[in-house]
Amino acid sequence: MNIANNTFKTLKDLDKAHYLHPFTDLQEHKQKGGDIFSRAEHIYIYNSEGKQLLDGMSGLWCSNLGYSQPTINKAITQQLEVLPYYNSFFQCTHQLAVDMAKSLVEVTPPQFNKVFFTNSGSEANDTNIRLVHRYYNLLEKPNKKQIISRKNAYHGSTVAAGSLGGFNGMHEQYTGVNYVHHIAEPNWFGYDGELDRDAFGKHVAQELAAKIDELGEENVAAFIAEPIQGAAGVIVPPETYWPEISKICKERDILLILDEVICGFGRTGNWFAAETYNIEPDLLTFAKGVTNGYQPLGGVMVSDKVADVITCNEGEFTHGFTYSGHPLACAAGIATLDILKNEQVIEKGAADIMPYFQARLRSLEDHPIVGEVRGVGMLAALELVKNKSSKERLAPDCEGGAICKMHAIEHGLMVRSVGDAIVTAPPLICSREEIDLLITRLTIALDYTA
Ligand code: PLP
Repeated sequence: MNIANNTFKTLKDLDKAHYLHPFTDLQEHKQKGGDIFSRAEHIYIYNSEGKQLLDGMSGLWCSNLGYSQPTINKAITQQLEVLPYYNSFFQCTHQLAVDMAKSLVEVTPPQFNKVFFTNSGSEANDTNIRLVHRYYNLLEKPNKKQIISRKNAYHGSTVAAGSLGGFNGMHEQYTGVNYVHHIAEPNWFGYDGELDRDAFGKHVAQELAAKIDELGEENVAAFIAEPIQGAAGVIVPPETYWPEISKICKERDILLILDEVICGFGRTGNWFAAETYNIEPDLLTFAKGVTNGYQPLGGVMVSDKVADVITCNEGEFTHGFTYSGHPLACAAGIATLDILKNEQVIEKGAADIMPYFQARLRSLEDHPIVGEVRGVGMLAALELVKNKSSKERLAPDCEGGAICKMHAIEHGLMVRSVGDAIVTAPPLICSREEIDLLITRLTIALDYTA
């Protein structure tokens, strides 16, 4: 197809013709195309037809400070003039990567004094695999290679990160690394047994101990988990879950990798969900909110326990990316962390807008098709059902969440659907009036779905 032909095509036609979209039904896209977004401001996104939507998902759980944030924009453009690119390979780096590393150390839990930069959460989780292998090899425990993860976990989309994840759909499309084992996730809504919520939390955590015993502690390197499983539909663990998991990891010689790609940078009301749930990870994955989503940046916070081993032995850590610690990404990251710190966005949010958001969502529990409202901080999901007591599905042959999402978009609200659930994670900077607007639009979508 040449350029002259292209001029007669709409943007939507060109999108259908040339762009293979991630996580998209490609046949459906080829036929119908998708929505194209052209600009964003504050908490609103605008499509190419000018329609405004309140972004109840902060992009893809990234833009915690909303859009058109002038300080972050300025930091990126100023850095472009000074040093648009330099690398961090072969014993060198540049100032912004160092400043960004220092900023991250200041806001993450105290065991973290080192960071490895990547471009994304997926690459950060790949990095975790290399780190734990290197760590145990240096400790002369080369058999410790098995990693335990959870069903329906999402840890990214590269082959290794997809293997860490627990989505059947992803596993069906490729064969990944073969040393990852998946235990059950603490999905209280999906549980039909006799235990109460607390007992269920402990019970499901015990699967980790059982799996370590089955594989042999001498073969297990690490357990990886999201504090709250986001892409699985905001699976909020019972209060008893994380204390039990932490106990198991401490009692056994395995590393705990906490994937805070969604939960980090304030979403659960603390800088990191490690604080919300009192978890002490050895490695912590971050991405998304670190730059407010304005530049691709991810990484791994490496605890002293791991860093002391990998930095005190000779030889290269043979791993890295051309854009690790990219200056523009670091400029965006430093500005984002400065705003979060200086304007006390997280502390103020935890004191006001987050409890307000959760309380307003809980008011939807009375809606005839809402089977459960769950969430923490500025992260929540509504499970949609036909029958509240039997939890009968809204529609047997299609996903209730997708129907509700379609109505929400029609009525000016962007949310995400996961199976029969509707997920929302709006920017932390929403006002009470904006949360009211989100709830109004969501209620209309629920009414149309019912
Ligand atoms: N980990 C979690 C918990 C995520 O939610 C995601 C993305 O949604 C990733 C990792 C992968 O991050 P990225 O898409 O930046 O590779």
